[in-house]
Amino acid sequence: YFVNKVIENNRFVIEDSETFKHVAKVLRHKPGDVIYLVDPEQNLFTATIERITDDKIETSVNKLATPSTELPIDVTIACSLSKKDKIEWITQKSTELGAKKIIFFSSKYSIMTWKKNVIEKKLIRLQEIAKNAAQQSKRRIVPQVVYVNKLTDLVDHKAQSNLVAYEESAKQGEISLLAQTLNQNPNSILCAFGPEGGFAPDEINFLNKSDFLSVGLGPRIMRAETAPMYFLSVLSYKYEL
Ligand code: SAM
Repeated sequence: YFVNKVIENNRFVIEDSETFKHVAKVLRHKPGDVIYLVDPEQNLFTATIERITDDKIETSVNKLATPSTELPIDVTIACSLSKKDKIEWITQKSTELGAKKIIFFSSKYSIMTWKKNVIEKKLIRLQEIAKNAAQQSKRRIVPQVVYVNKLTDLVDHKAQSNLVAYEESAKQGEISLLAQTLNQNPNSILCAFGPEGGFAPDEINFLNKSDFLSVGLGPRIMRAETAPMYFLSVLSYKYEL
């Protein structure tokens, strides 16, 4: 569980109502049970439950010196908007695979846009999905979920290396450009993925002019939600296996 206070000594009281509910009511933990806590400084603790009151859980905690579960490179996945279930799936799976930031953007061939008045509500829901997925994957960081209304606003989120997954580059056999980029060992990377209809040529031009390198992701054309998972898996292979 992610707690919002730094754990400074060997006792910690869980007061956050959502965590309380999950631990005490949903999973019905009892005194003596052990759960894992991550504090805002990304330290991991085992917490032995000592007492459960009506709204609090008192625990004794032990800091663990376990290796980090974070990818050694900051990865941002930027995906064109699609249907609700796909966006939620992308958020959950990208979190499991180690993304640090997940951006959704509206582009020419996106099948939908978000109206101003729904953006906040949708982001809260996606952020919750990311938190649950991070917990399940024993990550110490919950990725940030962001929405940008225009493709051009992606430049505000640039990383050290910036890519756009472009199936035309795949046809031309330019997979090595991805390998070449990774061989430069950037400390942060962003990759943009188009919608089912792909990117429009002027969008690719804009991105290329803004220093996003077009890269292929192999000879097979993947669905819009598969391509980011392929990319994250390549990063895990390169940096973690
Ligand atoms: N309109 C395209 C077509 O019919 O060829 C397909 C778009 S694809 C379903 C959706 C997005 O996934 C693309 O915009 C691209 O970002 C990414 N993508 C899928 N397969 C890819 C590949 N082999 N190489 C690079 N990008 C790929």
